[in-house]
Amino acid sequence: MTSFDLRSLVRANVWKMTPYSSARDEYVSDGSEKVFLDANENPFENGLNRYPDPRQRKLKSELSRRKGVKENQVLLGNGSDEILDLLFRAFCEPGQDKVITVPPTYGMYGVLAALNDVTDAKVEMKADFTLDLKAIYQAIDENTKLVFICSPNNPTGNNIPTEQIKELLLNFKGLVVIDEAYIDFSEQESWVHFLDIYPNLVVTQTFSKAYGMAGIRLGSCFASEAVITVLNKIKPPYNVNELTQAKAMERLGKYDLILQEIETLWAERSKLEAALAQLSFVIRVYKSDANFILAELDDADKRYQDLLNEGFIVRNRSNQPLCKNCLRFTIGTPSENDRLIAALNELK
Ligand code: PMP
Repeated sequence: MTSFDLRSLVRANVWKMTPYSSARDEYVSDGSEKVFLDANENPFENGLNRYPDPRQRKLKSELSRRKGVKENQVLLGNGSDEILDLLFRAFCEPGQDKVITVPPTYGMYGVLAALNDVTDAKVEMKADFTLDLKAIYQAIDENTKLVFICSPNNPTGNNIPTEQIKELLLNFKGLVVIDEAYIDFSEQESWVHFLDIYPNLVVTQTFSKAYGMAGIRLGSCFASEAVITVLNKIKPPYNVNELTQAKAMERLGKYDLILQEIETLWAERSKLEAALAQLSFVIRVYKSDANFILAELDDADKRYQDLLNEGFIVRNRSNQPLCKNCLRFTIGTPSENDRLIAALNELK
């Protein structure tokens, strides 16, 4: 593969800086009981008067075991959105550096690029929603630090072909970020299993989708120990709160329920896919490996409004490249989907 030099990717100020460190980061437990008078907390116990574990050890240990990675290959964040932002802040020099995104895709990559004053070189996908690798290579220059690939992709729902991602990992000197927010709905194997092969691979996942925990705001990042060390340096010390850590542990303890809900959503996805395909005003239903379906309609703005009048809010993706007249339907509960299908069938 192309030589990979992490040091050359890290922002110079981040490489040099000393991270914040708390007394509890610094002390090494000898197992004996201690009185904590170091962090200016209120000492009266109410279950939440103490700061959370800044290293989220319990949760990381559980997640790393489940994912088959080392604990120091995991970083947790306040949603995967925070992790995406940390990637920009760790690796992209404002006013100078560049990332590649491949629309139609998740909008936050572009928003975070703008926020961090980093150029977002948009390289449109091919019409079949695969990567245009030739155009990506043309767009890459010496200031290109990150390429964002969402697989399964939001809003199109398809997996990005493994061979294309492999090729990119082998040829790009920067980091390839694979956003796997929807991976649990997909037949595709997660890229977390390839961390030891590709030093420039970064995978992000979330508790917001299949895990059913969007309200706790928890995202995860899996990468080489070296990349995780850089991100740990700049993350806010207590970015994952106590309640979130506890709720995530509780949810992981009921993993069978997550699997059961995924099975139901798969069946519901097939049901909605078939129903959409039969409608006279639906031109095309895209195959989905996620918990939503993208469909091309006769007039997306009109159909969006029709559905809104019937009490359904869907996502109008018409303004995205290659998505003219497309609506994105999230899979709801069986009864919500039945009601949606009934409402669609009534539309003229
Ligand atoms: N990535 C993708 C592709 C998403 O669709 C979303 C949420 N819409 C996110 C990341 C953000 O997820 P989180 O709730 O973990 O911040």
